[in-house]
Amino acid sequence: MAGLFVPFLPFADSIGQKIWISILFVGVFFCGWLCPFGTLQEWVGWLARKIHLPRFQLSLSWQQYAQLLRYFLYGLSTLNIVFYFLNSRFYFGHSVAVGMWDWVNGSVLILFIVLALFTDRPFCNYFCMHGASLGVWSVLRPLGIVRDSKTCVHCAQCDKSCPMNIPISSTELIGHPNCINCMKCITACPKNCIAFTLMRGKKL
Ligand code: SF4
Ligand code: SF4
Ligand code: SF4
Repeated sequence: MAGLFVPFLPFADSIGQKIWISILFVGVFFCGWLCPFGTLQEWVGWLARKIHLPRFQLSLSWQQYAQLLRYFLYGLSTLNIVFYFLNSRFYFGHSVAVGMWDWVNGSVLILFIVLALFTDRPFCNYFCMHGASLGVWSVLRPLGIVRDSKTCVHCAQCDKSCPMNIPISSTELIGHPNCINCMKCITACPKNCIAFTLMRGKKL
């Protein structure tokens, strides 16, 4: 897996630099494999499925607009508009590492953990400015998730498995910025027509 090379990038000093540089080449492995709050939402979702709680998902037409919210919040924060308010609540590092001891930010976190009982990664999908800041750097990555449309039977199992609600079975986009390289679509595909490979010139 390409993410395994991340710790060994020779031209970056810190782990943070290695993660940022790796995003340019292989996308956002951090969100899929390393982020504690993303992992916590995954575990809560797993538990909810085990105890058969109802799950909700916005329709595709609403999803494409709703998912722009985290990029909008990120844009606002970079323009220094209500920077502190947004950063303290919707920037993963501040919220979890520092802000959770503040009762307002702690309440926001608890709210998203409860929401994760009913929908996949609610904070990651719609609100996380950190995830958005990583995603925008990943759009030109050469390696990523590719679907072989010739062998695809359009069963939509990949769409259902994607915690970031990416319409894998139908999208024409390459290098979706919301993809967190969790590889769930690869394991969900019954025809083995999804792979993590060179993306350029291919359709997702
Ligand atoms: S989107 Fe934010 S909260 Fe979710 S995994 Fe990425 S950094 Fe963590
Ligand atoms: S799971 Fe595989 S076969 Fe089914 S729609 Fe997705 S890519 Fe096509
Ligand atoms: S399921 Fe596939 S498309 Fe969706 S986030 Fe994971 S790797 Fe990316």
